[in-house]
Amino acid sequence: MVSSEVVPYAKTGGLADVVGALAIEFAKLGHEVCVILPCYRQVESHGYQMTDYTRLSVPTGDGLIEARVQEVAGPPSRVMEPGGLRVFVVRHDQYFARPGLYQEAGLDYPDNFDRFVFFCRAVMELLVHFGEKDRWQTDVLHLHDWQTALCAVYLRTIYQAKASLKSTRSVLTIHNLGYQGLFPAEHFALTGLSPELFTPAALEFYGAVNLLKGGIVFADLLTTVSPTYSHEIQTSEYGCGLDGVIRARKHVLHGIVNGIDAEIWDPAKDVHLAAPYSLSDMSGKARCKKALQQELGLHQQNVPLLGVIARLTSQKGIDLVIEIIPELMELNVQLAILGTGDVHYEQQVRELAAGYPGRVALRNVFDEGLAHRIEAGADMFIMPSRYEPCGLSQLYSLRYGTVPVVRKTGGLADTVVNYTPRTFKESRVTGFSFADTSATSLLTCLLLALSVYRKKADWQRIVTAGMEQDLSWARSAEIYVQLFEDVLRTGSEGKS
Ligand code: ADP
Repeated sequence: MVSSEVVPYAKTGGLADVVGALAIEFAKLGHEVCVILPCYRQVESHGYQMTDYTRLSVPTGDGLIEARVQEVAGPPSRVMEPGGLRVFVVRHDQYFARPGLYQEAGLDYPDNFDRFVFFCRAVMELLVHFGEKDRWQTDVLHLHDWQTALCAVYLRTIYQAKASLKSTRSVLTIHNLGYQGLFPAEHFALTGLSPELFTPAALEFYGAVNLLKGGIVFADLLTTVSPTYSHEIQTSEYGCGLDGVIRARKHVLHGIVNGIDAEIWDPAKDVHLAAPYSLSDMSGKARCKKALQQELGLHQQNVPLLGVIARLTSQKGIDLVIEIIPELMELNVQLAILGTGDVHYEQQVRELAAGYPGRVALRNVFDEGLAHRIEAGADMFIMPSRYEPCGLSQLYSLRYGTVPVVRKTGGLADTVVNYTPRTFKESRVTGFSFADTSATSLLTCLLLALSVYRKKADWQRIVTAGMEQDLSWARSAEIYVQLFEDVLRTGSEGKS
Protein backbone atom coordinates (compact mmCIF):
# COMPACT_ATOMS: atom_id res chain seq x y z
CA MET A 1 0.00 0.00 0.00
CA VAL A 2 1.48 3.29 -1.08
CA SER A 3 0.06 6.47 0.37
CA SER A 4 1.14 10.02 1.11
CA GLU A 5 -0.33 9.69 4.61
CA VAL A 6 -1.01 6.79 6.95
CA VAL A 7 -2.23 6.69 10.56
CA PRO A 8 -0.45 6.69 13.00
CA TYR A 9 2.63 7.97 11.16
CA ALA A 10 1.42 11.01 9.25
CA LYS A 11 -2.02 12.52 8.84
CA THR A 12 -3.79 15.55 7.48
CA GLY A 13 -7.19 13.95 6.88
CA GLY A 14 -9.44 10.93 6.36
CA LEU A 15 -7.09 9.35 3.79
CA ALA A 16 -4.61 8.56 6.56
CA ASP A 17 -7.31 6.90 8.69
CA VAL A 18 -8.49 4.77 5.81
CA VAL A 19 -5.07 3.51 4.71
CA GLY A 20 -3.91 2.87 8.28
CA ALA A 21 -7.02 0.88 9.18
CA LEU A 22 -7.24 -1.03 5.91
CA ALA A 23 -3.62 -2.16 6.11
CA ILE A 24 -4.34 -3.75 9.49
CA GLU A 25 -7.51 -5.41 8.18
CA PHE A 26 -5.63 -6.94 5.23
CA ALA A 27 -3.01 -8.28 7.63
CA LYS A 28 -5.74 -9.66 9.89
CA LEU A 29 -7.10 -11.55 6.89
CA GLY A 30 -3.69 -13.23 6.64
CA HIS A 31 -2.12 -11.14 3.88
CA GLU A 32 1.45 -9.95 3.92
CA VAL A 33 1.15 -6.17 3.88
CA CYS A 34 3.81 -3.57 3.21
CA VAL A 35 3.00 0.11 3.63
CA ILE A 36 5.21 2.80 2.09
CA LEU A 37 5.01 6.54 2.78
CA PRO A 38 7.39 9.52 2.67
CA CYS A 39 9.42 10.30 5.77
CA TYR A 40 8.02 13.70 6.78
CA ARG A 41 9.09 15.45 9.94
CA GLN A 42 5.71 14.38 11.37
CA VAL A 43 6.72 10.72 11.00
CA GLU A 44 9.95 11.30 12.92
CA SER A 45 8.19 13.30 15.64
CA HIS A 46 6.51 10.16 17.02
CA GLY A 47 9.84 8.68 18.03
CA TYR A 48 9.18 5.23 16.55
CA GLN A 49 12.29 3.17 16.05
CA MET A 50 13.58 3.36 12.46
CA THR A 51 16.14 1.01 10.99
CA ASP A 52 17.99 1.39 7.69
CA TYR A 53 16.68 -0.99 5.06
CA THR A 54 18.40 0.09 1.86
CA ARG A 55 19.59 3.02 -0.21
CA LEU A 56 18.25 3.64 -3.69
CA SER A 57 19.47 5.73 -6.59
CA VAL A 58 16.25 7.10 -7.96
CA PRO A 59 16.23 8.23 -11.59
CA THR A 60 14.46 11.55 -12.14
CA GLY A 61 14.41 14.01 -15.01
CA ASP A 62 17.22 15.82 -13.18
CA GLY A 63 19.50 12.78 -12.85
CA LEU A 64 19.88 10.35 -9.97
CA ILE A 65 18.69 11.33 -6.51
CA GLU A 66 19.47 9.21 -3.50
CA ALA A 67 16.69 7.89 -1.27
CA ARG A 68 17.21 6.19 2.04
CA VAL A 69 14.58 3.60 2.87
CA GLN A 70 13.95 2.85 6.51
CA GLU A 71 11.67 0.36 8.19
CA VAL A 72 9.55 1.80 10.99
CA ALA A 73 8.59 -0.13 14.07
CA GLY A 74 5.17 1.33 14.84
CA PRO A 75 2.87 0.65 17.77
CA PRO A 76 2.89 -3.05 18.79
CA SER A 77 -0.67 -3.66 17.51
CA ARG A 78 0.60 -3.04 14.00
CA VAL A 79 3.18 -5.81 13.89
CA MET A 80 1.25 -8.58 15.59
CA GLU A 81 -1.31 -9.18 12.84
CA PRO A 82 -1.19 -12.74 11.42
CA GLY A 83 -0.10 -11.88 7.86
CA GLY A 84 2.46 -9.38 9.06
CA LEU A 85 2.55 -5.69 8.45
CA ARG A 86 5.74 -3.86 7.57
CA VAL A 87 6.03 -0.11 7.22
CA PHE A 88 8.73 1.60 5.16
CA VAL A 89 9.48 5.28 4.75
CA VAL A 90 11.27 6.90 1.85
CA ARG A 91 13.71 9.51 3.13
CA HIS A 92 14.97 12.45 1.20
CA ASP A 93 15.15 15.23 3.70
CA GLN A 94 15.31 18.13 1.22
CA TYR A 95 11.87 17.04 0.01
CA PHE A 96 10.11 15.67 3.05
CA ALA A 97 11.67 16.87 6.31
CA ARG A 98 9.36 19.88 6.49
CA PRO A 99 6.70 21.08 8.93
CA GLY A 100 3.80 20.26 6.57
CA LEU A 101 2.93 17.32 4.33
CA TYR A 102 1.78 19.35 1.33
CA GLN A 103 1.76 22.97 2.42
CA GLU A 104 2.63 25.57 5.01
CA ALA A 105 0.49 28.55 6.08
CA GLY A 106 -2.15 27.60 3.52
CA LEU A 107 0.29 27.63 0.59
CA ASP A 108 1.19 24.46 -1.31
CA TYR A 109 4.90 23.72 -1.48
CA PRO A 110 6.03 24.94 -4.93
CA ASP A 111 7.92 21.68 -5.57
CA ASN A 112 5.05 19.27 -4.82
CA PHE A 113 5.31 17.83 -8.31
CA ASP A 114 9.02 17.05 -7.85
CA ARG A 115 8.36 15.63 -4.38
CA PHE A 116 5.66 13.16 -5.33
CA VAL A 117 7.15 12.19 -8.69
CA PHE A 118 10.32 11.38 -6.79
CA PHE A 119 8.35 9.43 -4.17
CA CYS A 120 6.54 7.35 -6.84
CA ARG A 121 9.76 6.61 -8.66
CA ALA A 122 11.47 5.64 -5.39
CA VAL A 123 8.58 3.28 -4.61
CA MET A 124 9.02 1.55 -7.98
CA GLU A 125 12.76 1.17 -7.35
CA LEU A 126 11.99 -0.24 -3.92
CA LEU A 127 9.56 -2.80 -5.37
CA VAL A 128 12.27 -3.92 -7.78
CA HIS A 129 14.66 -4.18 -4.85
CA PHE A 130 12.11 -6.24 -2.87
CA GLY A 131 11.73 -8.62 -5.82
CA GLU A 132 15.34 -8.94 -6.91
CA LYS A 133 17.22 -8.71 -3.63
CA ASP A 134 14.75 -10.07 -1.11
CA ARG A 135 12.64 -12.29 -3.34
CA TRP A 136 9.61 -10.48 -2.01
CA GLN A 137 7.13 -10.38 -4.83
CA THR A 138 4.47 -7.66 -4.98
CA ASP A 139 1.12 -9.10 -6.08
CA VAL A 140 -0.98 -5.99 -5.64
CA LEU A 141 0.26 -2.42 -5.66
CA HIS A 142 -2.51 -0.48 -3.88
CA LEU A 143 -2.28 3.26 -4.60
CA HIS A 144 -4.22 6.13 -3.08
CA ASP A 145 -5.11 9.49 -4.66
CA TRP A 146 -3.03 11.70 -6.94
CA GLN A 147 0.16 11.64 -4.89
CA THR A 148 0.81 7.97 -5.69
CA ALA A 149 -1.19 7.52 -8.92
CA LEU A 150 1.94 7.81 -11.08
CA CYS A 151 3.10 4.38 -9.85
CA ALA A 152 0.33 2.81 -11.95
CA VAL A 153 1.74 4.56 -15.02
CA TYR A 154 5.31 3.50 -14.21
CA LEU A 155 4.25 -0.12 -13.73
CA ARG A 156 2.90 -0.29 -17.29
CA THR A 157 5.70 1.72 -18.92
CA ILE A 158 9.24 2.16 -17.57
CA TYR A 159 8.99 -0.86 -15.25
CA GLN A 160 7.01 -3.11 -17.57
CA ALA A 161 10.00 -5.24 -18.48
CA LYS A 162 11.11 -5.90 -14.89
CA ALA A 163 10.77 -9.62 -14.28
CA SER A 164 9.93 -9.14 -10.62
CA LEU A 165 6.97 -6.89 -11.50
CA LYS A 166 5.59 -8.95 -14.38
CA SER A 167 2.59 -10.27 -12.48
CA THR A 168 2.06 -7.21 -10.26
CA ARG A 169 -1.34 -5.54 -10.63
CA SER A 170 -2.09 -1.97 -9.66
CA VAL A 171 -5.17 -0.72 -7.85
CA LEU A 172 -5.94 2.97 -7.49
CA THR A 173 -8.37 4.11 -4.82
CA ILE A 174 -9.87 7.55 -5.38
CA HIS A 175 -10.65 9.14 -2.02
CA ASN A 176 -11.62 12.54 -3.40
CA LEU A 177 -11.80 13.39 -7.10
CA GLY A 178 -11.64 17.08 -6.22
CA TYR A 179 -7.86 16.80 -5.79
CA GLN A 180 -6.12 15.64 -8.97
CA GLY A 181 -2.49 16.76 -8.81
CA LEU A 182 -2.55 19.31 -11.64
CA PHE A 183 0.76 20.85 -12.67
CA PRO A 184 2.11 22.95 -15.57
CA ALA A 185 3.08 21.05 -18.73
CA GLU A 186 6.75 22.04 -18.54
CA HIS A 187 7.16 19.76 -15.49
CA PHE A 188 6.24 16.63 -17.44
CA ALA A 189 9.82 15.75 -18.42
CA LEU A 190 10.65 15.22 -14.75
CA THR A 191 8.50 12.07 -14.75
CA GLY A 192 10.95 10.38 -17.11
CA LEU A 193 7.96 9.16 -19.14
CA SER A 194 7.88 9.21 -22.92
CA PRO A 195 6.57 12.56 -24.26
CA GLU A 196 4.00 10.49 -26.14
CA LEU A 197 2.16 10.08 -22.86
CA PHE A 198 1.55 13.79 -22.63
CA THR A 199 -1.65 13.53 -24.65
CA PRO A 200 -5.35 13.74 -23.74
CA ALA A 201 -5.50 9.93 -23.91
CA ALA A 202 -3.01 9.68 -21.03
CA LEU A 203 -1.71 12.34 -18.61
CA GLU A 204 -2.60 15.60 -20.33
CA PHE A 205 -5.59 17.55 -19.05
CA TYR A 206 -6.34 20.76 -20.95
CA GLY A 207 -2.66 21.53 -21.43
CA ALA A 208 -1.60 20.59 -17.89
CA VAL A 209 -0.21 17.41 -16.33
CA ASN A 210 -2.86 15.52 -14.35
CA LEU A 211 -1.32 12.82 -12.16
CA LEU A 212 -4.61 11.32 -10.98
CA LYS A 213 -5.76 10.99 -14.57
CA GLY A 214 -2.60 8.98 -15.32
CA GLY A 215 -3.55 6.58 -12.55
CA ILE A 216 -7.15 6.31 -13.73
CA VAL A 217 -6.02 5.47 -17.27
CA PHE A 218 -3.29 2.98 -16.32
CA ALA A 219 -4.38 1.21 -13.12
CA ASP A 220 -5.62 -2.36 -13.50
CA LEU A 221 -8.41 -1.78 -11.01
CA LEU A 222 -10.06 1.39 -9.75
CA THR A 223 -11.97 1.78 -6.53
CA THR A 224 -13.60 4.64 -4.76
CA VAL A 225 -14.94 4.92 -1.26
CA SER A 226 -18.68 4.37 -1.71
CA PRO A 227 -20.94 2.84 -4.36
CA THR A 228 -22.95 6.03 -4.94
CA TYR A 229 -19.78 8.13 -5.38
CA SER A 230 -18.51 5.58 -7.92
CA HIS A 231 -21.60 6.34 -10.04
CA GLU A 232 -21.60 10.08 -9.37
CA ILE A 233 -18.03 10.57 -10.62
CA GLN A 234 -19.12 9.25 -14.00
CA THR A 235 -21.40 12.28 -14.42
CA SER A 236 -20.45 15.79 -15.48
CA GLU A 237 -21.95 17.16 -12.25
CA TYR A 238 -19.51 15.27 -10.00
CA GLY A 239 -16.78 14.19 -12.42
CA CYS A 240 -14.54 17.27 -11.96
CA GLY A 241 -13.71 17.14 -15.67
CA LEU A 242 -12.63 13.49 -15.52
CA ASP A 243 -16.07 11.89 -15.91
CA GLY A 244 -15.39 10.88 -19.53
CA VAL A 245 -12.09 9.24 -18.58
CA ILE A 246 -13.78 7.44 -15.70
CA ARG A 247 -16.71 6.30 -17.83
CA ALA A 248 -14.22 4.78 -20.26
CA ARG A 249 -12.92 2.63 -17.39
CA LYS A 250 -16.16 1.97 -15.55
CA HIS A 251 -15.83 -1.80 -16.11
CA VAL A 252 -12.92 -1.82 -13.63
CA LEU A 253 -14.37 0.71 -11.18
CA HIS A 254 -15.91 -0.39 -7.86
CA GLY A 255 -17.31 1.56 -4.91
CA ILE A 256 -16.47 0.18 -1.46
CA VAL A 257 -17.65 2.03 1.58
CA ASN A 258 -15.10 2.97 4.29
CA GLY A 259 -15.30 1.54 7.78
CA ILE A 260 -14.41 3.21 11.06
CA ASP A 261 -11.82 2.40 13.69
CA ALA A 262 -14.23 0.82 16.15
CA GLU A 263 -11.62 0.86 18.93
CA ILE A 264 -11.06 4.60 18.88
CA TRP A 265 -14.69 5.50 18.11
CA ASP A 266 -16.60 3.55 20.74
CA PRO A 267 -18.83 5.46 23.19
CA ALA A 268 -18.47 2.64 25.71
CA LYS A 269 -14.72 3.21 26.12
CA ASP A 270 -13.98 6.60 24.59
CA VAL A 271 -11.37 8.30 26.78
CA HIS A 272 -12.49 11.76 25.66
CA LEU A 273 -16.02 11.51 27.07
CA ALA A 274 -17.45 12.69 30.40
CA ALA A 275 -19.27 9.36 30.73
CA PRO A 276 -19.30 6.12 28.75
CA TYR A 277 -22.51 4.75 27.31
CA SER A 278 -23.87 1.97 25.12
CA LEU A 279 -27.22 0.72 23.91
CA SER A 280 -27.75 -1.22 27.13
CA ASP A 281 -27.29 1.94 29.22
CA MET A 282 -27.75 5.28 27.49
CA SER A 283 -27.64 7.41 30.63
CA GLY A 284 -24.04 8.43 29.90
CA LYS A 285 -25.15 10.18 26.70
CA ALA A 286 -27.25 12.67 28.67
CA ARG A 287 -24.24 13.36 30.87
CA CYS A 288 -22.09 13.88 27.78
CA LYS A 289 -24.62 16.43 26.52
CA LYS A 290 -24.58 18.40 29.77
CA ALA A 291 -20.76 18.32 29.85
CA LEU A 292 -20.59 19.52 26.25
CA GLN A 293 -22.98 22.41 26.93
CA GLN A 294 -20.80 23.41 29.85
CA GLU A 295 -17.57 23.11 27.85
CA LEU A 296 -18.93 25.26 25.01
CA GLY A 297 -20.74 27.83 27.14
CA LEU A 298 -24.19 26.74 25.93
CA HIS A 299 -27.20 27.13 28.25
CA GLN A 300 -27.80 24.09 30.47
CA GLN A 301 -31.20 23.24 28.99
CA ASN A 302 -32.59 20.02 27.67
CA VAL A 303 -33.27 21.30 24.14
CA PRO A 304 -32.18 19.59 20.91
CA LEU A 305 -28.44 20.09 20.42
CA LEU A 306 -27.24 19.98 16.81
CA GLY A 307 -23.58 19.30 16.02
CA VAL A 308 -21.35 20.12 13.03
CA ILE A 309 -17.73 18.96 12.70
CA ALA A 310 -16.21 19.71 9.34
CA ARG A 311 -13.69 21.46 7.25
CA LEU A 312 -15.45 24.79 6.71
CA THR A 313 -15.52 24.56 2.92
CA SER A 314 -18.11 24.66 0.20
CA GLN A 315 -17.71 20.87 -0.28
CA LYS A 316 -19.17 20.39 3.19
CA GLY A 317 -22.10 22.75 2.49
CA ILE A 318 -21.20 24.90 5.47
CA ASP A 319 -22.76 27.90 3.66
CA LEU A 320 -26.14 26.12 3.86
CA VAL A 321 -25.76 25.80 7.62
CA ILE A 322 -24.79 29.48 7.86
CA GLU A 323 -27.84 30.47 5.82
CA ILE A 324 -30.35 28.68 8.08
CA ILE A 325 -28.94 29.73 11.46
CA PRO A 326 -31.26 32.77 11.89
CA GLU A 327 -34.32 30.61 11.07
CA LEU A 328 -33.10 27.78 13.30
CA MET A 329 -32.69 30.20 16.17
CA GLU A 330 -36.43 30.93 15.99
CA LEU A 331 -36.76 27.41 17.39
CA ASN A 332 -35.68 26.20 20.79
CA VAL A 333 -32.44 24.49 19.68
CA GLN A 334 -28.70 24.80 20.20
CA LEU A 335 -25.88 24.47 17.67
CA ALA A 336 -22.25 23.40 18.27
CA ILE A 337 -19.80 23.88 15.39
CA LEU A 338 -16.22 22.61 15.31
CA GLY A 339 -14.20 23.41 12.24
CA THR A 340 -11.50 25.29 10.42
CA GLY A 341 -11.32 26.16 6.76
CA ASP A 342 -12.08 29.00 4.37
CA VAL A 343 -11.52 32.31 6.07
CA HIS A 344 -14.79 33.87 4.90
CA TYR A 345 -16.84 30.96 6.28
CA GLU A 346 -14.94 31.10 9.56
CA GLN A 347 -15.73 34.81 9.79
CA GLN A 348 -19.43 34.36 9.03
CA VAL A 349 -19.88 31.58 11.58
CA ARG A 350 -17.97 33.59 14.19
CA GLU A 351 -20.28 36.59 13.71
CA LEU A 352 -23.41 34.44 13.90
CA ALA A 353 -22.20 32.67 17.03
CA ALA A 354 -21.57 36.04 18.68
CA GLY A 355 -25.16 37.02 17.91
CA TYR A 356 -26.62 34.00 19.76
CA PRO A 357 -24.60 33.59 22.96
CA GLY A 358 -25.42 30.44 24.88
CA ARG A 359 -27.18 28.99 21.83
CA VAL A 360 -24.61 28.83 19.01
CA ALA A 361 -21.02 27.86 19.82
CA LEU A 362 -18.09 27.84 17.41
CA ARG A 363 -14.70 26.31 18.13
CA ASN A 364 -12.49 27.42 15.26
CA VAL A 365 -9.67 24.92 15.91
CA PHE A 366 -8.70 21.33 15.15
CA ASP A 367 -9.48 19.44 18.34
CA GLU A 368 -9.69 15.65 18.21
CA GLY A 369 -11.08 15.31 21.75
CA LEU A 370 -13.80 17.89 21.19
CA ALA A 371 -14.79 16.10 17.98
CA HIS A 372 -15.47 12.99 20.09
CA ARG A 373 -17.39 15.01 22.68
CA ILE A 374 -19.62 16.65 20.05
CA GLU A 375 -20.32 13.28 18.44
CA ALA A 376 -21.39 12.00 21.85
CA GLY A 377 -23.10 15.07 23.32
CA ALA A 378 -25.18 16.22 20.35
CA ASP A 379 -28.63 14.85 19.51
CA MET A 380 -28.26 15.32 15.76
CA PHE A 381 -25.32 15.73 13.44
CA ILE A 382 -25.68 17.99 10.38
CA MET A 383 -23.72 17.15 7.21
CA PRO A 384 -25.16 18.88 4.12
CA SER A 385 -22.20 18.10 1.80
CA ARG A 386 -22.30 19.16 -1.85
CA TYR A 387 -20.35 15.99 -2.56
CA GLU A 388 -19.06 13.36 -0.14
CA PRO A 389 -16.92 10.46 -1.41
CA CYS A 390 -17.68 8.50 1.77
CA GLY A 391 -17.62 10.66 4.90
CA LEU A 392 -16.52 9.41 8.29
CA SER A 393 -18.26 11.87 10.59
CA GLN A 394 -21.76 10.51 9.88
CA LEU A 395 -20.47 7.00 10.63
CA TYR A 396 -19.19 8.17 14.02
CA SER A 397 -22.57 9.82 14.60
CA LEU A 398 -24.39 6.57 13.94
CA ARG A 399 -22.13 4.75 16.39
CA TYR A 400 -22.65 7.46 19.02
CA GLY A 401 -26.45 7.50 18.77
CA THR A 402 -26.38 11.00 17.29
CA VAL A 403 -28.85 11.00 14.43
CA PRO A 404 -27.30 12.25 11.17
CA VAL A 405 -29.13 14.80 9.00
CA VAL A 406 -27.36 14.68 5.65
CA ARG A 407 -27.54 15.59 2.01
CA LYS A 408 -28.25 12.47 -0.03
CA THR A 409 -24.97 12.21 -1.93
CA GLY A 410 -22.02 9.81 -2.19
CA GLY A 411 -21.26 7.87 0.96
CA LEU A 412 -23.93 9.78 2.88
CA ALA A 413 -26.57 8.26 0.59
CA ASP A 414 -25.08 4.81 1.14
CA THR A 415 -24.75 4.91 4.91
CA VAL A 416 -27.80 6.84 6.18
CA VAL A 417 -31.30 5.36 5.76
CA ASN A 418 -33.74 8.26 5.41
CA TYR A 419 -36.87 8.58 7.51
CA THR A 420 -40.04 7.73 5.58
CA PRO A 421 -43.22 6.12 6.89
CA ARG A 422 -42.16 2.84 5.30
CA THR A 423 -38.52 2.78 6.44
CA PHE A 424 -39.68 3.71 9.91
CA LYS A 425 -42.27 0.93 9.97
CA GLU A 426 -39.53 -1.49 8.93
CA SER A 427 -37.26 -0.16 11.72
CA ARG A 428 -34.58 0.69 9.16
CA VAL A 429 -34.35 4.47 9.64
CA THR A 430 -30.95 5.66 10.84
CA GLY A 431 -31.23 9.35 9.95
CA PHE A 432 -32.73 12.05 7.74
CA SER A 433 -31.63 13.06 4.26
CA PHE A 434 -32.55 15.58 1.58
CA ALA A 435 -31.69 15.81 -2.11
CA ASP A 436 -31.38 19.45 -3.23
CA THR A 437 -28.32 21.50 -2.39
CA SER A 438 -30.39 24.26 -0.86
CA ALA A 439 -30.75 25.88 2.53
CA THR A 440 -34.54 25.43 2.32
CA SER A 441 -34.20 21.68 1.83
CA LEU A 442 -31.79 21.43 4.77
CA LEU A 443 -34.14 23.43 6.98
CA THR A 444 -37.19 21.38 5.96
CA CYS A 445 -35.31 18.17 6.67
CA LEU A 446 -34.22 19.46 10.08
CA LEU A 447 -37.81 20.46 10.91
CA LEU A 448 -38.94 16.90 10.21
CA ALA A 449 -36.11 15.51 12.35
CA LEU A 450 -37.02 17.89 15.19
CA SER A 451 -40.67 16.85 15.06
CA VAL A 452 -39.70 13.18 15.32
CA TYR A 453 -37.26 14.03 18.13
CA ARG A 454 -40.23 15.10 20.28
CA LYS A 455 -41.64 11.53 20.14
CA LYS A 456 -39.13 9.96 22.47
CA ALA A 457 -39.88 6.31 21.68
CA ASP A 458 -39.73 6.88 17.92
CA TRP A 459 -36.46 8.76 18.30
CA GLN A 460 -34.92 6.01 20.39
CA ARG A 461 -35.81 3.49 17.67
CA ILE A 462 -33.81 5.55 15.17
CA VAL A 463 -30.91 5.95 17.59
CA THR A 464 -30.90 2.21 18.25
CA ALA A 465 -30.96 1.29 14.55
CA GLY A 466 -27.93 3.55 13.99
CA MET A 467 -25.97 2.20 16.94
CA GLU A 468 -26.62 -1.37 15.80
CA GLN A 469 -25.06 -0.85 12.35
CA ASP A 470 -21.94 -2.83 11.58
CA LEU A 471 -19.54 -0.04 10.59
CA SER A 472 -16.34 -2.01 11.06
CA TRP A 473 -13.73 -2.45 8.35
CA ALA A 474 -13.99 -6.24 8.23
CA ARG A 475 -16.65 -6.47 5.49
CA SER A 476 -15.13 -3.80 3.26
CA ALA A 477 -11.64 -5.31 3.58
CA GLU A 478 -13.00 -8.64 2.37
CA ILE A 479 -14.56 -6.96 -0.67
CA TYR A 480 -11.19 -5.35 -1.53
CA VAL A 481 -9.42 -8.69 -1.19
CA GLN A 482 -11.97 -10.38 -3.45
CA LEU A 483 -11.39 -7.72 -6.11
CA PHE A 484 -7.61 -8.09 -5.74
CA GLU A 485 -7.91 -11.83 -6.25
CA ASP A 486 -10.08 -11.29 -9.33
CA VAL A 487 -7.64 -8.84 -10.91
CA LEU A 488 -4.71 -11.18 -10.20
CA ARG A 489 -6.60 -13.99 -11.89
CA THR A 490 -7.92 -12.10 -14.89
CA GLY A 491 -4.78 -10.06 -15.48
CA SER A 492 -4.31 -6.49 -16.55
CA GLU A 493 -7.12 -4.48 -17.99
CA GLY A 494 -5.11 -1.27 -17.77
CA LYS A 495 -3.55 0.48 -20.74
CA SER A 496 -0.28 -0.96 -21.97
P1 ADP B 1 -13.03 14.82 5.07
O1 ADP B 1 -12.00 13.73 5.12
O2 ADP B 1 -13.57 15.13 3.71
O3 ADP B 1 -12.61 16.07 5.78
P2 ADP B 1 -14.63 13.01 6.70
O4 ADP B 1 -15.99 13.13 7.30
O5 ADP B 1 -14.36 11.81 5.87
O6 ADP B 1 -14.35 14.34 5.88
O7 ADP B 1 -13.54 13.03 7.86
C1 ADP B 1 -13.33 14.18 8.62
C2 ADP B 1 -12.58 13.77 9.87
O8 ADP B 1 -11.92 14.90 10.38
C3 ADP B 1 -13.51 13.28 10.98
O9 ADP B 1 -12.79 12.33 11.73
C4 ADP B 1 -13.75 14.55 11.81
O10 ADP B 1 -14.05 14.26 13.14
C5 ADP B 1 -12.40 15.22 11.68
N1 ADP B 1 -12.42 16.67 11.81
C6 ADP B 1 -12.78 17.60 10.89
N2 ADP B 1 -12.61 18.83 11.37
C7 ADP B 1 -12.14 18.70 12.62
C8 ADP B 1 -11.76 19.63 13.65
N3 ADP B 1 -11.83 20.94 13.47
N4 ADP B 1 -11.31 19.12 14.81
C9 ADP B 1 -11.23 17.79 15.00
N5 ADP B 1 -11.56 16.86 14.08
C10 ADP B 1 -12.01 17.32 12.91
